[in-house]
Amino acid sequence: MGPYASTADQFLVKAFNQGIVLHLLRVQGPLSRADIAKVTGLNKTTVSVLVEELIHRHLVQEVGMGASSGGRRPMLLTLNARAGFVVGADLGVDYFLVVVLDLQAQPIWKRRVHRVPGTDPSTDVRQLADLIADGVAAVSPTPLGLLGIGVGVHGPVEHPGGRLLFAPNLGWTDVPVGELLRERFQVPIVVDNEANAGALSELWYAAQDADTLFYFSVGMGLGTGIVINGEIYRGAAGTAGEFGHTTIDPSGPPCTCGNRGCLETFVSERALMRYLQGSGAEKVATTQEVFQAADAGEARAISALAQLGGYLGIGVANAINTFNPQLVVIGGPIGSGGHHVLNSVRRVVERRALPFPLSRARIVVSALGEEACAIGAGIMILQEFFRIPQVKTAGERTPEAVLGGLKGGRGQQDPMAWPGPDGAHYSTVKSSS
Ligand SMILES: [Zn+2]
Repeated sequence: MGPYASTADQFLVKAFNQGIVLHLLRVQGPLSRADIAKVTGLNKTTVSVLVEELIHRHLVQEVGMGASSGGRRPMLLTLNARAGFVVGADLGVDYFLVVVLDLQAQPIWKRRVHRVPGTDPSTDVRQLADLIADGVAAVSPTPLGLLGIGVGVHGPVEHPGGRLLFAPNLGWTDVPVGELLRERFQVPIVVDNEANAGALSELWYAAQDADTLFYFSVGMGLGTGIVINGEIYRGAAGTAGEFGHTTIDPSGPPCTCGNRGCLETFVSERALMRYLQGSGAEKVATTQEVFQAADAGEARAISALAQLGGYLGIGVANAINTFNPQLVVIGGPIGSGGHHVLNSVRRVVERRALPFPLSRARIVVSALGEEACAIGAGIMILQEFFRIPQVKTAGERTPEAVLGGLKGGRGQQDPMAWPGPDGAHYSTVKSSS
C-alpha cells in the first residue's frame, strides 16, 4: 500500500467518524464530548479533534454547561440546526406546498398556493420554482445556505434522475421535473414519489424505533411508500410502491391507470364521493366537509367513511401480510381525518391479516397530515447530508456494526444513492474530490 491509499483511508475514517458524531448529536443531543466518546467507543482525544472541526464547519455548537457527574461540569454540544437549510416541495394535484426546513427537519417557512388544473407541466414547474425561490429568499442567511431541494410528485418517478413517468391525476406523462428545476437552482435536487416522501417524514418524526414502515397516502389517488431497514424501497428503477394499483376486484370500476378494480378505485377521495352519492346524499361535498358531517353525527357521511375504511383495511392487511411492517401509517387528505376511518380499518385488518405479522404491526394516523410529503421531500436532502460514508476495511467495524448500538441508528446505507448535479456524493464525502 502506497502513501495515497493510507491517506485516503485516514480521510474516510475521519469522514465516517464525523458522520457518526453528527448523527448522534442529531438524534440524542445535547451531549458532552465524554458522552460521545462513551457511546461511540472513540477515544476522547479523537472526539475532541472531530468536534473542533465540526464546530469550525458550523455544524456543531456549544450550548452551555451540563450537570457534573463528580468532576468539572462538561460543555454540552448540539447539532447547529441553523447552519443551513433545505427546501421540501409537494407538487400536488390542486396545490403547491413548499416548506423550508432547518437541519433538524423543523419547518421555518411554509406556503401553500392553489394550482390551476390542466396547466402545462413546464408552466407548473416554473410556478413551483418561483415559490421555492420565495422560500429561500425569506430565510435569514446561514453559514451553509441552501443544501438542496426535494420535490414530491403524485406519480411514479424514475430513480435516480427525477423524471416523473406518469401522473394520471395531473394528466402528465414523462415530465423531467428534476431537470427543469436544475436549470434554475444549482444545488442537489431530488424528485421522488409523494408517498415515498411521506413515508420518510413519518420515519423521522413518528417512527421511534421502527425501521420497517408502510405508508398509505390517501387523496385523489392512493399512493404508498415502503421503508425497509430505514431506507425507501424503490425497486429496480424507482417505481416500487404502486400498491394502489393492485387489483382488488377484476370487474370493479375503471381506474386512471387503465386497469379495473384497483385498490385506488375503492380507497381515494373519488371513491369517498361515490360512496356518498350511492347513499343518496344530495350534494357532493369536499373531503373536509364529509369529516365535518361525520363529526356532527350525519349517518351517510359516517357510513361512506366506514366503507372507505373497510377497503383500506384490505389494503393494510395485504401490506402487513406481504411486508411485515412495524408501523402502518394512514396519511394524505383522508389521513388528516384518519380517526374517522381507523376503526373500520382495524376491524377489517384483525379479520384478514395473518396473526403473527399483525401482532407486530402498529396502525396509526399520520403525525404530519397534509404536510407529510413536503416535509419528507426536504428530509430526502437531509438524509443524504447526514448519510454516514461507507468505510469497510478487512475485518473491522462496519457502519452497521457501530450504528447498531445507537438509538435511531440505521444500517444498510446505499453508498451510491446521491444524485447530486455533478454526480458527487455529499456532505463529508464531497470534500474528498
Ligand atoms: Zn389502477
